[in-house]
Amino acid sequence: MSPLSSADPALIDDLVDANHILGMQGVLDAFGHVSVRHDRSPAHFLLARNMAPAQVCREDIVSFELDGTPVDAGDRRVYLERFIHGAIYRARPDVMAVVHSHSPAVVPFTVSRRERLRPVCHMSGFLGGGAPVFEIRDVAGDGTDLLVRDDRLGRALAQVLGPSHCVLMRGHGSTTVGPSLKLAVYRAVYAEVNARIQSQALQLGDPQYLSAEEAQAAMASTEGQVDRPWALWKAAARAIR
Ligand code: MN
Repeated sequence: MSPLSSADPALIDDLVDANHILGMQGVLDAFGHVSVRHDRSPAHFLLARNMAPAQVCREDIVSFELDGTPVDAGDRRVYLERFIHGAIYRARPDVMAVVHSHSPAVVPFTVSRRERLRPVCHMSGFLGGGAPVFEIRDVAGDGTDLLVRDDRLGRALAQVLGPSHCVLMRGHGSTTVGPSLKLAVYRAVYAEVNARIQSQALQLGDPQYLSAEEAQAAMASTEGQVDRPWALWKAAARAIR
């Protein structure tokens, strides 16, 4: 039985909804992607074929080995940066879903030498003490196209992510992870929201950030209610499908 046919059909529905939600929220556009770990085979993950997330249907979902090898793509093209997902699932057994995004408010924090992306409000406690930044030059030198296009780069990214929930990628975007698809989507949306608010706060000057203790406590209380935004976003995304 192929990994795809043994996956919970409800998980595939959720993955399709996640693609549409992230498109609607402006976290993914024509680029970026969201994956989920297979519910019965932890050595596989599910990800759409190479296409704009907002247009993904059930039939577009493909299963992959953790080294990025597509199992059932046939002759369909797959995402160049699928290695991001597999490498993180290998390094982090607790991670069940991954969002890779170029969402625009986050990008300034990938290039600033001074300011890090840090939690400025209770909705983004998952940013903890600040998101680490992956510098592709450290691994691949100068002259890359900045894409994580092989497993070696994927492993280097996963190493910089470490135990965090979000890693920034210099001059490129970010990757957000979670213990469920809903939480990975929630965090990707609020990483973008936090970045917007943080940039505004920096313009006012000298922002106060959540302490590590506040970030931890706020994360526990807001993320316990993830079903609420998920239901709202899913209904909105399905209404325009
Ligand atoms: Mn990318």
